[in-house]
Amino acid sequence: MKVKVGINGYGTIGKRACTAIGLQDDMEIVGVTKTRPTYEAKMANELGIPLYASGSEGSAPFKAAGIDTAGTLEDLLSKVDIIVDCTPGGVGADYKEVYAKAGVKAIFQGGEDHGTAGVSFNSTANYQESWGMQFSRVVSCNTTGLLRTLFPLDKEVGIQSVYATLIRRGADPGDSKSGPINAIEPSLKLPTHHGPDVQSIMPWLDIHTMAVKVPTTLMHLHTVVVKFKRNVATEEVLAVWEKAPRLCMVNGKEGIKSSAQIMEYARDLARSRGDLFEIAVWKDGVKTVGDTLYYYQAVHQESDVVPEIVDCIRSMCKLEKDAAKSVQKTNSAMGIRF
Ligand code: NAD
Repeated sequence: MKVKVGINGYGTIGKRACTAIGLQDDMEIVGVTKTRPTYEAKMANELGIPLYASGSEGSAPFKAAGIDTAGTLEDLLSKVDIIVDCTPGGVGADYKEVYAKAGVKAIFQGGEDHGTAGVSFNSTANYQESWGMQFSRVVSCNTTGLLRTLFPLDKEVGIQSVYATLIRRGADPGDSKSGPINAIEPSLKLPTHHGPDVQSIMPWLDIHTMAVKVPTTLMHLHTVVVKFKRNVATEEVLAVWEKAPRLCMVNGKEGIKSSAQIMEYARDLARSRGDLFEIAVWKDGVKTVGDTLYYYQAVHQESDVVPEIVDCIRSMCKLEKDAAKSVQKTNSAMGIRF
């Protein structure tokens, strides 16, 4: 029998999680929620995805707008084994009691604190820690990006310390409310929360982060300096990443010089929404000097966490014990080649 999944918050992450879950053969989407009768609610109707009302006025505004609903969030919760909370950052924590009362499992996103779920999730680094849990949290897009490259390096080589600067997109492509549109905005609360967020999965890692926001919507870009416990050749680092899941190597020499070309490449892959689920690392921008590694990586913020959400469902619902097998299954269903 397939695990029954609901999505609370059919926005940037919720829509993508819905598509990805719909591609798996061991889980199915029972329904999604919207607070208001927006174009996304209408789209859910058109795609035949059962829509539930989560706003305080219930189904009435949807009915008035000619959009069908199958009930309220409470109705959806009564039909699912697990809910994927994709509400805006900070809102998910308010729903924890609602999910607990309904007796359903719940996955929170990176906009919530680690404490909301008590367990944070990354497919490769700590799949087992969410095994059978009622609550877990898939870490943010940036944290997922850092874990994808750092965890395998630490496992295979041994990391002494990490210094990373996150160059963050000002807004998602579909967002016209955020910025900046003509400025570079440093995070003044230092060190930033990104290092501690990585430590919610790798508590032993000595990592220090800073961040700046820039006027772009496409991707985040990380500049990372890693100090190893011994001298390491560039080829050894590349060999470790060659075997690591959900990373793709791009090359400046082949014309991929910026996030613009990476996203064009992603569109050429012709997956849903032009998403890039892998973290892109510039192969010709990887360099070691003695025990120190320098590299750049780019994160497609709208989609890198999506396969992790699928694996997290598998771990929490005890569908597959082996992390690597779950990653493989998710990848194959979603067309992730790398
Ligand atoms: P979003 O704003 O695109 O979507 C949020 C959805 O929740 C919308 O459909 C909205 O209508 C709905 N919503 C708003 N208030 C609600 C409420 N009170 N109850 C129920 N639904 C409500 O947000 P998003 O970018 O998809 O982010 C969702 C979560 O994923 C956040 O925790 C965020 O930090 C995290 N995340 C976002 C990104 C990103 O770059 N967009 C990347 C990784 C993780």
